[in-house]
Amino acid sequence: MPEIVVPTIIGGTLVAVCVMLILRNICYWYWRINERVLLLEKIHAQLALLTGKSEAVERTVWDCPKCQKRNDGVATSCDRCGYRRMVQAKT
Ligand SMILES: [Zn+2]
Repeated sequence: MPEIVVPTIIGGTLVAVCVMLILRNICYWYWRINERVLLLEKIHAQLALLTGKSEAVERTVWDCPKCQKRNDGVATSCDRCGYRRMVQAKT
């Protein structure tokens, strides 16, 4: 009995993952989510150009040059070592 259960669980999981990936792509196509993301990225890039904050806006995360910790984009200093990031805001 256990020799049937384990392959069934593995096979069922693989089939479920494949079905989920196919349904995900159908949903993305139906609600045009990929097109929305592309448009939002274009809008984002053009807004960054307009405001002159392209570098600050484009990077949503940044790596600390001192300790290599990945920090959130809105954080101005490193959580681990306290390194202060320079953000160029041309006004
Ligand atoms: Zn750091």
